[in-house]
Amino acid sequence: MLSQRERERYKRQILLFGEEGQERLKRSEIFIAGAGGLGSPIAIYLAVAGVGTITIADMDVVDRSNLNRQILHGDRDIGRKKTASAEEKLRAINPDIVVRSLDGRIDDTNAAALVGRADGIVDAMDNYPTRYLLNDVALAKKIPLFHGAIRGFYGQATTILPGATPCLKCIVPKAPPAETFPVIGVTPGVIGTVQANEVLKYLLKSGNLLSGRLFIWDGVQSRAEEIAVERSPGCPACCAIAEEMTAGGTRQ
Ligand SMILES: [Zn+2]
Repeated sequence: MLSQRERERYKRQILLFGEEGQERLKRSEIFIAGAGGLGSPIAIYLAVAGVGTITIADMDVVDRSNLNRQILHGDRDIGRKKTASAEEKLRAINPDIVVRSLDGRIDDTNAAALVGRADGIVDAMDNYPTRYLLNDVALAKKIPLFHGAIRGFYGQATTILPGATPCLKCIVPKAPPAETFPVIGVTPGVIGTVQANEVLKYLLKSGNLLSGRLFIWDGVQSRAEEIAVERSPGCPACCAIAEEMTAGGTRQ
């Protein structure tokens, strides 16, 4: 049930999807991997929308060079843990939700446990090794992975539904080399907002997700396009799960 305060807070979106939709958001739990450029707008928009439990994980401290894009953090947060800074801001933005922060590295020994019972994983990372790890966890738990990546004025996003769509490894089979890439803050603003929109639609079971579609943003030309993406038949990450799902479907 929603409180009177929640009915007021979410009035303009309850007009869109009703109290039932709002309650659905309230019951949901989302895991955001990264409290940086992408994680900031994602967390802010999920918080203001009333996603009931938001877990945000990061291992870094705020650096001055983060501040051109990581809008959860400000000048006085320099040197603080990003998770502490993020949790404080999100709680201030919306005290009616639960915010949990996990400080530390996501690795293959803890990823599944950190994600816990979340309804979805948001990829707000800046490196592919961790993204592939999140992809594996999403496939194993059969929960969606909301992928986003940025560089310069360019970004991409897609929604991975295990067993139904290509996985991240099908779409990006080989990690690009690690680098300190250039980026302008509006790019994670655009892509992170698209990812948050995907999460909300998924939780509300409404609209068309970016499933099997890679959204590509070109900020230089102010142009968005999409390309269809397909499962890679020999994909080492999702082959087993796809077969299992097909077999499961046959049994029913
Ligand atoms: Zn795959």
